[in-house]
Amino acid sequence: MAADARPATVAIWPFVCTNCARLAPAGSLAYHCPTCGGVFDLIRPLDYAPLDRGPARSGLERFRATFPLPQGIPWITLGEGGTALVAAPVGERLVHFKCEQLNPTGSFKDRGAAVLVNALAAAGVAEVIEDSSGNAGAALAAYAARAGIRARLFVPEAASPRKVAQIAAFGAEVVRVPGPRSRAAEAVRRQADQGAVYASHVWLPFGLAGLATIAFELVEQLGRAPGAVVIPVGHGTLLLGLARGFAALEAAGVIESSPLIIAAQAAACAPLWAAHQSGGQAVPWVREGETRAEGIRILQPLRGDAVLAAVGRSRGTVVAVDEPTIARGEAELARRGFYVEPTSAVVWGALEATLRSLPEPVVAVLTGSGLKAEPSVE
Ligand SMILES: [Zn+2]
Repeated sequence: MAADARPATVAIWPFVCTNCARLAPAGSLAYHCPTCGGVFDLIRPLDYAPLDRGPARSGLERFRATFPLPQGIPWITLGEGGTALVAAPVGERLVHFKCEQLNPTGSFKDRGAAVLVNALAAAGVAEVIEDSSGNAGAALAAYAARAGIRARLFVPEAASPRKVAQIAAFGAEVVRVPGPRSRAAEAVRRQADQGAVYASHVWLPFGLAGLATIAFELVEQLGRAPGAVVIPVGHGTLLLGLARGFAALEAAGVIESSPLIIAAQAAACAPLWAAHQSGGQAVPWVREGETRAEGIRILQPLRGDAVLAAVGRSRGTVVAVDEPTIARGEAELARRGFYVEPTSAVVWGALEATLRSLPEPVVAVLTGSGLKAEPSVE
């Protein structure tokens, strides 16, 4: 769709600022609130609105009426969603593993990228920038390629070679930024301040609507709501997407109550665990240590308050998983046939810590493929 084909009075970004409560201005493509710099969220809660199954409608497209997108636009897809749910024994219990590593680029991020890129395409955007060294960058690069949108990805110098190669293979321009991950974020924000469209999977809330479809699929696959869902958490977009998906199912009367959410962090960098431990009564000092779970090594989660509130509402908890347990989790999952990256393996430690007290059925989300990770040095 050409840029001049969109109605000028329609809010392209159906967002509200979580800080000052102003709406995104009509026609704005800003990644944060232009008035106060706050983080945007979607204006409305999600409605659960699945389409009938059909030969041309599978995966995410079945839920497109749920997404904050203009209706009647073509759905740009790589076949994301509709992933398998596979039960396997963990100790004396059965755990249902949601195999998100089976998405087109090998991670759950494809669900969010699909909704985000469909929104960008509907807005007539021709070029975007984003900072990521991993799964989100690969997902954005793939969907941008599919949509004919040019993508420029700012990556830290030390980014995983396999993930950078995947980003570049989709035709995205890769800009290497010396220094830690935060430098790449600063570089991309400077470009955004000069007018580039920042297609951030963290700042822009479109992806949360895509991730909510995991909740929809879980309830279809189990025939009921899970008792508990165990997930890796960095910024917490997966957690918020799931919580909103279950809330939409509750509001629609499909389920009676939402599951406990068990958030797993790497102990080497666990700000949400530390804040949860303190009961919100203190501002804990947290380090950004080395961890094999690089995908959740996030020192300052952008929506941390919302994440902790969602965990609290679900009566769940946050678990910190040490490096030996992450390595053991990789091995234990692989011996059950699940080849996942170390970031996904934190769910193993969280299951060991909490499974005895979790209500049935228990789901653990496997977020990314082991094929993308650097091989273990063991
Ligand atoms: Zn604001």
